[in-house]
Amino acid sequence: MDRDVWVVLEAEDMKIKGSSFALIDEGKRLAVQVGGGLTAVFIGQGLEGINELVGTHGANHLYLFHEETLHQYVPELYERLLTQLLSGKKPYLVMAAATSLGSDLMPRVAAKLKAPLVTNCVEVRAGEDLEFIKPAQNGRLHATVICKAPGTKMATIDPDSLTIAKEEREPRIAEVTEMGPATGGDGLSVRVTGFLKADHRTIDISEAEIILAIGRGVGSKENFAMIREFADRIGAAIGGTRPAVDVGILPFERQIGQTGKAVSPKLIMMCGISGAMEFTKGIENARTKVAINIDRQSRVFKSIDLGIVGDLNRVIPQIIEHIDAMVDQGKAQ
Ligand SMILES: Cc1cc2nc3c(=O)[nH]c(=O)nc-3n(C[C@H](O)[C@H](O)[C@H](O)COP(=O)(O)OP(=O)(O)OC[C@H]3O[C@@H](n4cnc5c(N)ncnc54)[C@H](O)[C@@H]3O)c2cc1C
Repeated sequence: MDRDVWVVLEAEDMKIKGSSFALIDEGKRLAVQVGGGLTAVFIGQGLEGINELVGTHGANHLYLFHEETLHQYVPELYERLLTQLLSGKKPYLVMAAATSLGSDLMPRVAAKLKAPLVTNCVEVRAGEDLEFIKPAQNGRLHATVICKAPGTKMATIDPDSLTIAKEEREPRIAEVTEMGPATGGDGLSVRVTGFLKADHRTIDISEAEIILAIGRGVGSKENFAMIREFADRIGAAIGGTRPAVDVGILPFERQIGQTGKAVSPKLIMMCGISGAMEFTKGIENARTKVAINIDRQSRVFKSIDLGIVGDLNRVIPQIIEHIDAMVDQGKAQ
C-alpha cells in the first residue's frame, strides 16, 4: 500500500461541485503531510476540461468513469466501480464529501472492502496515525477517531467544514486513466427513476437548508397557522427555542440549542427569540442569520446579518404578501 490520498468527486449541472474542489484542496494538504500523491476519481457523465480543472487544483492523477449511463447516481453500479478500482490500488486514505451521494456510496464501498470508515468528519489530521475529528453529542463535543487496522482508511467530510483554498494556481493537467465502460448494470436490484426534493415540513432540522425558528414571542398555538404559511412560502423547516417546545407549539425533536439540536442551515429566520446563549449555541454554524423581534435592545440583534425590529404579527403577514406579489408578478411576465 502506498501513501496516496484519494478523493471522490461529484458533479451537479454538468460542473464539478464546489465541495469537490474543496475536497481536493483538503486531500492535497493531507497528501503532502503523509508523503503521498493525490488521486481523484470521477464517476458520471463526461465533463469538458475536467483533467485540467482537477489538475490545476492539485490532483496528480484522475480516474474517469464517464459515460451517459452514469449521469445519475446508481448506488450498486457506482459502488461496484469504486470498489473494483480501490481494491486494486489500495490507497492510504479515500475521502468523499458527506453529501447525499457520498454518505450513501462510501459505506457501501467500505463494507465491500472491509475498510474502516469515519463519517461526517470536520477535520482529518495526519500524524503517526490519521486522526479523524467528528462532532459528537449533537455537535457539543468533538471526538477524535483513530483506526488502528492496517489498510485503506475511508472518511466522509462534512461539506460545511470544507473550504476552497484562496491561492494562486498554475494551470496543470492531471494524468488521466480512462476506465472502461461500466458493465453489470442489468442485474441491479435498485433502479433510480428520479430525485425528489426533501419535504421542508418533515425534514430533520439538523439537515435543513432553511429554518424558521420560533420563540416565546410567537405567543400562542393559534399563531402557528401564520408561521406554517410563512415556512411554506420560503421552503423552511420549523424549529425553535425551549419555551416553544415547553408550551407544546413544537415537539422536542425541533428544539434548537444546548439541550436541543445543533443546526447548520444556509438561512435561519428567528421570530420572537431573545437570543439566549443556550439557544445560540445551536446556531453557531448557520450561514445567514435574520431576526424579527419587537424589542430593539434584544440580545438576538447582536450577532446576526439582518435584523427587523417589529411585531411579528405584523411583519410576517407583510413578508408573505410581498412574496405572493413577487410570485404573481413572475407568473404575469
Ligand atoms: C440548562 C439549560 C439548558 C437550556 N437549553 C436550551 C435549549 O437547548 N434551547 C433553547 O432555546 N433554550 C434553552 N434554554 C432556555 C434558555 O435559557 C432561554 O430561556 C430560551 O432560549 C429563551 O427562549 P425565547 O427566546 O423563545 O424566549 P424569551 O427569552 O422569552 O424571548 C422572547 C422574545 O420574543 C420577543 N417578542 C415578544 N413578542 C414579540 C412579537 N410580537 N414580535 C416579535 N418579537 C416578540 C421578545 O422581545 C423576546 O426577545 C436552556 C436553559 C437552561 C438553564
